[in-house]
Amino acid sequence: MIPSVLPTYSRAPLSFVEGEGAWLIEQDGRRFLDLGAGIAVNALGHANPALVAALTEQAGKLWHTSNLYQIPQQQALADKLVALTFADTVFFTNSGTESCELAVKMARKYFYDKGQPDRVEIITFSGSFHGRSSAGIAAAGSEKMTKGFGPLLPGFVHLDFGDHDALRAAITDTTAAILIEPVQGEGGIRPVPDQCLKGLRDLCDENGILLIMDEVQCGVGRTGKLFAHEWSGIAPDIMMVAKGIGGGFPLGAVLATEDAASGMTAGTHGSTYGGNPLGCAVGNAVIDIISAPDFLAEVNRKAGLILQKLEGLVAGHPDIFESVRGSGLMLGLKCKATNSDVVSAGYAHEVITVPAADNVIRLLPPLNITDEEIAEAISRLDQAAGSLETA
Ligand SMILES: *Cc1c(COP(=O)(O)O)cnc(C)c1O
Repeated sequence: MIPSVLPTYSRAPLSFVEGEGAWLIEQDGRRFLDLGAGIAVNALGHANPALVAALTEQAGKLWHTSNLYQIPQQQALADKLVALTFADTVFFTNSGTESCELAVKMARKYFYDKGQPDRVEIITFSGSFHGRSSAGIAAAGSEKMTKGFGPLLPGFVHLDFGDHDALRAAITDTTAAILIEPVQGEGGIRPVPDQCLKGLRDLCDENGILLIMDEVQCGVGRTGKLFAHEWSGIAPDIMMVAKGIGGGFPLGAVLATEDAASGMTAGTHGSTYGGNPLGCAVGNAVIDIISAPDFLAEVNRKAGLILQKLEGLVAGHPDIFESVRGSGLMLGLKCKATNSDVVSAGYAHEVITVPAADNVIRLLPPLNITDEEIAEAISRLDQAAGSLETA
């Protein structure tokens, strides 16, 4: 008999009933250190008092009005994002995959309006993840996500991650854009080197095509910059955001330059919930905290601390771990043991990590995790790895 919850996930037998900063409390009372943060979503930890206050204050006033009217909280959040980034304009969504839908539509409309309606193709890379909507799975293109769901949305060209020659050859007069995650998340925490992002920017400029970045997982302070592409010194034309921007409230966004967004006039796109007062009240609180002076400096300091400790962990368990990789507090441990076994051993030692492709476990702690919690997390991972060695 089919479970009452559609069984598209194989879930761990854990039911968390409360959260507190970097801690999750199981219904049996056990306290888990959360290095998953709801897959890079709870950027400021669980039950963050500033976010709880923003949400409850708004909840007592007004939840939803629709985008038929002005929404002051949405306007304020858009103004902040425009001031803080390359972007001139923002559309709010409820999830990462909805941001992918708009990014694809925006790129195609751009060329349609420029009298180049044949420029519809979007180049993407192996190992990428852009969500589970029809555009998202067609963009990523992996058999795991697309098999059985055809016909797929056409117009995506899939290249091997890091194959520069194939990329140059793939750009034709039907290419509209290149879509890339500056740091692949689901693909196994694979950062794109800065010089490659610069090269992509040049390639797009030379060919008059758009550069779309998917910062759904790596954005909003995760890598120690507000957005990951800032490390490379270049900027995209269109950027997809979600996960961390809502701190746990479902919120996403597409940021774009004025030029890239020029086709998106009244009536060309919409969302009933996107950018509603509740979501934007929380989004404003998140962005205020993460963009405050010193917040990202602290993320970078902690990233250095945890990286150093993780290198020690890998060195101490050469049969379990192979290497550490990532950027900021978006870290991956490439495993020699099976990654899902390492994640399960972590559960047994009350520390939460998230598996990814390429036999990696992801560490995506809340950005405000403390030094003591980092030390405790490493000690628990050390015990978890040790338990696998003696097993
Ligand atoms: C999670 C994720 C998405 C999809 O986001 P949803 O909110 O699950 O739709 C898209 N792109 C990247 C890079 C992601 O990590």
